[in-house]
Amino acid sequence: MPATILDGNRIATAIKEEVARELRALNLAGIYPGLAIVLVGDRDASEIYVRSKLRACAELGIHTEITHLPETITTAELIDAVRALNRRDDIDGILVQLPLPKHVNVKLVQLAVDPVKDIDGFHPINIGWLRTPHPTLAPCTPAGIIEILKRSNIPIEGAEAVVVGRSDVVGKPTCTLLLKENATVTVCHSKTHDLAGVCRRADILVVAIGRAALIRRDYVKPGATVIDVGISRIAARAAFDRLFKGDAKREQQFAAKGSVLVGDVHPEVAEVAGAITPVPGGVGPLTVAMSMVNTIKAAKLRRLKLEPVGA
Ligand code: NAP
Repeated sequence: MPATILDGNRIATAIKEEVARELRALNLAGIYPGLAIVLVGDRDASEIYVRSKLRACAELGIHTEITHLPETITTAELIDAVRALNRRDDIDGILVQLPLPKHVNVKLVQLAVDPVKDIDGFHPINIGWLRTPHPTLAPCTPAGIIEILKRSNIPIEGAEAVVVGRSDVVGKPTCTLLLKENATVTVCHSKTHDLAGVCRRADILVVAIGRAALIRRDYVKPGATVIDVGISRIAARAAFDRLFKGDAKREQQFAAKGSVLVGDVHPEVAEVAGAITPVPGGVGPLTVAMSMVNTIKAAKLRRLKLEPVGA
């Protein structure tokens, strides 16, 4: 039986409706949350991500503004721009869109964001909170993965969870959150021996490596839940044919745009998995929705002067 498709767009819409309700309650209390997005240079992918966040904010009525800075900006100048946003009372969330130019020290920039406005959850203080029973602003993609699992009634407690990828943005915080939900967690990376064998142990397999379609059928235990975080663009006809030959919908997209998106998980995995997130339309929409959730949470924490442990 083919896997159940875990529709990220549907789950993200439900979350955004909840955010809209919270926002109305905050507005009634005279609080109008504001989100500032810092965008450096002119990368197509970054602009697409920023546009989807702006669209979500506009739908919900969250005030947003973009600080668009040149590619040549120095680390010190970027830190000054972030600090100026830290000082603004009308700005609750600050999001520095990654990647930054190579000459910029990303860690110093992330450190400059006021932790209470750090809606990406990348500041060391928020990474620390994540490991306590009281996470405050959790990174958006990992938090979105947990929402997909919970809202799809996939049991996490006691499950064998395998996370492939150990980045600070996705892999490591996903491990932390799965552990908090009482999964038994294994983390894999590029030096892991017998990756397929380790992955086959998983009831829940999360893959965040950025390697197009690397995870094949033999990596997956029949019936497992597979969360595909990776996003790669396939523009070569031969690669397209290897992955999607005979898939009419993708053929149409490829003909229209000259490329299609693919995850880290090969399409054949849908024949063995119990449930799977599609790419696009799986984890991506959740990342956007969770940045809205975090903006509202940051506004409440700061403006209502809540202690993190009570939030
Ligand atoms: P990253 O920082 O490049 O980290 C990749 C991780 O994968 C590293 O830990 C690396 O291991 C591991 N890895 C690479 N090749 C491997 C292999 N052949 N076998 C096992 N492990 C391997 O990437 P990231 O920022 O976590 O992003 C991963 C993917 O998710 C990318 O495609 C990115 O575009 C996508 N993404 C999607 C969303 C979304 O909203 N859908 C959000 C964020 C990222 P080492 O540590 O040993 O090098």
